[in-house]
Amino acid sequence: MAQFPPTLPPDGRIGQAVRDALGRLPQPREPEWADFIDAEGRLLPIERLRRESPEERDQRRAEVDLALVQRQALFRSVASSNIAIPQVVRDPANVFFGGRQAVDRQIEQLARRYAHRLRPTAAELSARRQFDLRSRANVLPAEEVRREILRRDDFMQRLIGAATKPRPAAEYPPHYQRMLDAAIRQAEADVLEEAAANQRTCLILPQRERTTIRIFAPGLPEDERRRLDQAAQFIGAITRKGRLSDPRIAVGINKELAAGAMRYRNGAIEFNPPTQGSGFIHEMAHHLQHHVSGLGRDSAEWRRRVSKGGKLQLMGVDSQGRSWYYRERTDGRAWLRDYMGRVYFRGDPMLLRVGNIPEEDNDRMEVVSCACEILFSNPVEIARHDPELVTLLIDSLRSNVP
Ligand SMILES: [Zn+2]
Repeated sequence: MAQFPPTLPPDGRIGQAVRDALGRLPQPREPEWADFIDAEGRLLPIERLRRESPEERDQRRAEVDLALVQRQALFRSVASSNIAIPQVVRDPANVFFGGRQAVDRQIEQLARRYAHRLRPTAAELSARRQFDLRSRANVLPAEEVRREILRRDDFMQRLIGAATKPRPAAEYPPHYQRMLDAAIRQAEADVLEEAAANQRTCLILPQRERTTIRIFAPGLPEDERRRLDQAAQFIGAITRKGRLSDPRIAVGINKELAAGAMRYRNGAIEFNPPTQGSGFIHEMAHHLQHHVSGLGRDSAEWRRRVSKGGKLQLMGVDSQGRSWYYRERTDGRAWLRDYMGRVYFRGDPMLLRVGNIPEEDNDRMEVVSCACEILFSNPVEIARHDPELVTLLIDSLRSNVP
């Protein structure tokens, strides 16, 4: 709307106070005139603007924008007919006279209609079913699994790219337009999360071919146990029966670790609750790295190849208080996560600072652990970025060699 907001916001201390507050938002933005006034159009004192919480400011903006857009509609009505009510009953601007709830409802409707446009077509669902039927009956080659993950993602990206964004019949004032934009972003994020879960099913082996991971973990809090079981189920479902030489994993709490930290050592996972995200998958994948024949060796070889001659970078301190380094890749790509390129040493890595490099410990690495985590949370991300590693990993996990 060209005439909205009407003028530039105030300068000086007041301007700076509001500019600072808006700069701290998750989506920072420049102040608009409506950020400085109340719903009666009065300029607010600086103390009030400074005291306001983000929620209070949001609420005020919702009211101010509503009042302004109502007045604008009334003004237009008077200018055209001398009557101070919007003339046409079906005038889309009328939604603003229904109050904030009415606009909120409309935003919700528009976002829902948009989400509907992002639903896979019947042809796509049928293509997925074909693949699922085959992969439930056979152990498909790794490259075929990877290509199907990419195919499904290509479809979703095209769908999102082609879908027209919802536009309200009457233009929204900035606050409500931002709310609509956020609702659209949320709809897309929901769809992509669903798509990731759907891509994950491509990795699952036929029922009779899966590994049963045997967890020994007495007395864990219920939510930790649930996350642990989910991780064991995923790792077991992508690892062919017979490939894992030792399917037993002991899991216990170690209060000496930092809160949230985890580690894997000789068939056991230790952690200090509360954990979050895919940490258990990460640690179980370390178990795979050591107990699936050839996997540790092949992924170490891949890592050596993609980072040959790469510079060592000090990254900081890990969850156990030790400084850690990664080696930059030299194959023209970056690590998806820096931690994937972590290098371990058989001595104190502090010595690196004076240029005295201790011998590397090649038995330890984070390639398989991080790769499995990403395969779980966002399969296409790694399937696209590191095709060779993903094929190697899936191939190794579904090989029929014991
Ligand atoms: Zn690790």
